[in-house]
Amino acid sequence: MDKGLVTNPKDLERMQHELVSLDRRISELEDTELEVMEQLENAQAEHVRLAERLEAIDARTGELTASRDAGAGDVTQESAQVTNQRKVVADGVPDDLLAVYEKVRAQKGGVGAAALRARRCGGCSLELTASDLRSIAKAPLDEVRRCEECNRILVRTSESGI
Ligand SMILES: [Zn+2]
Repeated sequence: MDKGLVTNPKDLERMQHELVSLDRRISELEDTELEVMEQLENAQAEHVRLAERLEAIDARTGELTASRDAGAGDVTQESAQVTNQRKVVADGVPDDLLAVYEKVRAQKGGVGAAALRARRCGGCSLELTASDLRSIAKAPLDEVRRCEECNRILVRTSESGI
């Protein structure tokens, strides 16, 4: 009866070679397993790092969104106040002057009148000539004068320099 004993020396030698080969293969697989585990640890660390970064970005986005929304609310409120103030002022301006103002305002990027300050037009910064300044100084206060350069309505003030 065969008891599993290897009696042929060639078979024994072949089996010993197989064992050495299998030991080598096990060692290689263990090395590969270590490399894969190291890669897994690196990937997990990177995942944690990215998750923390994403959390920080989400928090910052929340802060900025809240800040933006608050700012937009302020702007809307301020815009409504300015619109009301403008209406109050416009109601006190004669219709023909308001029409001129609106026409110039449409042509000049939303600014139809400018303060005459230190002899300069506040709209285009042109310094008025001495003769224009004399003429403006003599003109009645309700006479509408306009800048020769930009055509805006010049508003005389205590700082006009005339
Ligand atoms: Zn001007």
